[in-house]
Amino acid sequence: MSRTQRKPRIVGVGGGVASAAAIAELRKEGFDGDITLVSAEDTVPYERPPLSKEFLLGRSGSVPVKDPSWYQQNAVELLLGVRATRLDLAARTVHLSDGSAVPYDQLLLATGVRPRALPGIDGAGVCYLRTVQDATELRDRINAARHVAVLGGGFIGCEVASAAIQLGKRATILEALPTLLYRALGPDLGQVVAGIHRDAGVDVRTGQPVTGLTRGPGGGVRIATGDGPVDADVLVVGVGTVPNQELAEQAGLPVGNGIVVDEYFATAVPGVWAVGDVVAQHLPRYGRRVRVEHHDTALRHGRAVARNMLGRRAPFGDVHWFWSDQFEHTISSAGLPSTDGPLIIRGSLEQRSFSAFSLDGERLSAVISLNRPKDVLDARKLIAREHRATADQLRDESLPLKRLAPSTATAPSAATASSAATASSAATPSAGTAPSAAGTPSATAPSAGTVPSARTAP
Ligand SMILES: Cc1cc2nc3c(=O)[nH]c(=O)nc-3n(C[C@H](O)[C@H](O)[C@H](O)COP(=O)(O)OP(=O)(O)OC[C@H]3O[C@@H](n4cnc5c(N)ncnc54)[C@H](O)[C@@H]3O)c2cc1C
Repeated sequence: MSRTQRKPRIVGVGGGVASAAAIAELRKEGFDGDITLVSAEDTVPYERPPLSKEFLLGRSGSVPVKDPSWYQQNAVELLLGVRATRLDLAARTVHLSDGSAVPYDQLLLATGVRPRALPGIDGAGVCYLRTVQDATELRDRINAARHVAVLGGGFIGCEVASAAIQLGKRATILEALPTLLYRALGPDLGQVVAGIHRDAGVDVRTGQPVTGLTRGPGGGVRIATGDGPVDADVLVVGVGTVPNQELAEQAGLPVGNGIVVDEYFATAVPGVWAVGDVVAQHLPRYGRRVRVEHHDTALRHGRAVARNMLGRRAPFGDVHWFWSDQFEHTISSAGLPSTDGPLIIRGSLEQRSFSAFSLDGERLSAVISLNRPKDVLDARKLIAREHRATADQLRDESLPLKRLAPSTATAPSAATASSAATASSAATPSAGTAPSAAGTPSATAPSAGTVPSARTAP
């Protein structure tokens, strides 16, 4: 390189797991240009899943995706506590909230999502949960509370209620839909989860639209519901998310319930890529755009986009997978579950140990499990490759799911090859995370042809 030549620079906007995984993969794959990470948060990227689980319970602190020293050792410039405010795609420059600007050769947008705010539901005593700052505040409030109310019976709401009960508090979930996790799991499986919560002592009130909020006695909140007021010390709102797509949208990039990317994570502008919770990705496997809010998917997006940025063009084909821990139970899922069609049950809903499969013709398309993470790992491998499955086989407990893969080891199709290759590491969390096995589709209104992400569905 001549003296006047500068190294290529990759700028990542967003300080979550997707961005961190991309940067780590870029260095691992030998990229020796400049890397700058811009994050609105003032800490290095950390894991969000523990925030509604071990962190609230006081069993873990913040878990960094990469040790803070890694960034220095790998010559990654960190611009923390700074927002990207404008993209100049023609000049290949990111403008920042501190007035400075960073030039790039390639740009990665990984801006994630933010909690959906409810008009009129705000003020003292109301909490949202997305960041470690939110979690710290919430943990303190729960510790000081006697009664924790949760608005929204999605994954975040259920996990917070679970933590509150485990901390010896009263907990109430207010959910407008007929069961908990209705959008993600459907009515039957949602009822099973509601049963778990009720048995653990949560006051589960479904079909309960919240109509207003006022100050309650003793500095708490009084929540108006169709069934009368509920007084609590703290109200946690978990009613879905909104993708942080405005930066892309204002720069003229196509958006629609997320930043639109193809199966290579490319946006409409060459050199500009996007990954993680914020993307609505066109996936040929499904013939439509998909946006999910799954930790594992965000991590895999990051790794995969890095290879594409380095010119090793490969479509994303990994099977989506997520988990959620509530009390001693683990819900996990692989594929993109649709709760509209019939579910084939292996195991027992009553005994709270089952896998609910969806078939697409004679192919397994998705599974949702309660306390059967092994089924999900096996199903995930199956979904990634050619196989045939019938409803009777899926119901039959004596037939290991592995046996459904053709024993003549049909070569996976090109579209599924990368999934098959990575499915065996499906249960491997990123450094520092301890996922037991889930992730999720969202409460956000999907644009036509987009599968909503469900982890935060109310
Ligand atoms: C409490 C909680 C529990 C969860 N539990 C699970 C679980 O059990 N299982 C599971 O599969 N998934 C879970 N998830 C979801 C999982 O954590 C996400 O899928 C994952 O974190 C997404 O990573 P990301 O990098 O795409 O986005 P994020 O982690 O949202 O990161 C986006 C980053 O971009 C920054 N940013 C946004 N706009 C700008 C800007 N203009 N300039 C600079 N920075 C910006 C944000 O501040 C943030 O740091 C959970 C999420 C939460 C919040």
